[in-house]
Amino acid sequence: MDRQNRAGVKFGGGGVLSGEREKLNRKERLRRIAMETIDLNKDPYFLRNHLGTYECKLCLTLHTTEGNYLAHTQGKRHQTNLARRAARDNQESAPTDDEPTKVEIKKTIKIGRPGYKVTKLTHPESGARGLTFELVYPEIAQGLRPRHRIMSAFEQKVGPKDPAFQYLVFAAEPYETVGFRIPNSTIDRGSLHSTWDEPSTLFTLTLYFAQDSA
Ligand SMILES: [Zn+2]
Repeated sequence: MDRQNRAGVKFGGGGVLSGEREKLNRKERLRRIAMETIDLNKDPYFLRNHLGTYECKLCLTLHTTEGNYLAHTQGKRHQTNLARRAARDNQESAPTDDEPTKVEIKKTIKIGRPGYKVTKLTHPESGARGLTFELVYPEIAQGLRPRHRIMSAFEQKVGPKDPAFQYLVFAAEPYETVGFRIPNSTIDRGSLHSTWDEPSTLFTLTLYFAQDSA
């Protein structure tokens, strides 16, 4: 009798627990799948906002972590909105006589941020500090070479206007322009060089800071 009772409690408790665990497992599984298959830098709907949280530009939802956003992309709501968007885009791209400018507009649609890697350097001879930026643009418009620009904290409009920093900005259509905040030390202009490897769509820029500015 007693034993039966305990078994019943145990079973009931286990049922609740495993239900929650299942939900967690499912979320974790979805997050992993998403991390393996989705490059957030190429996701046009992924947005890091200025509050340090993440937004889905498609569903207008807020997410506290990248993992949470990734799980969201596998969810029903996002998938449904994706399907709707795709259906609408297909309709829009069908040629119509009364809207001849549509094709032109489509060309300028931004497809997200490029993948990138930043590496800190120390010059082997002078000991000067430097940085290498590597950006990949697999979908870059044909014949285009990525451009870069150095902007002061006051010139740019995205980050805080902190005089301790300056910004290195990269642009290449149809990608979103990306900016990197770097120390506002004098850049040794002679050391700055960039390469564009068209076959691998890899843009590399290396610079060193002038030593007296360190
Ligand atoms: Zn979404």
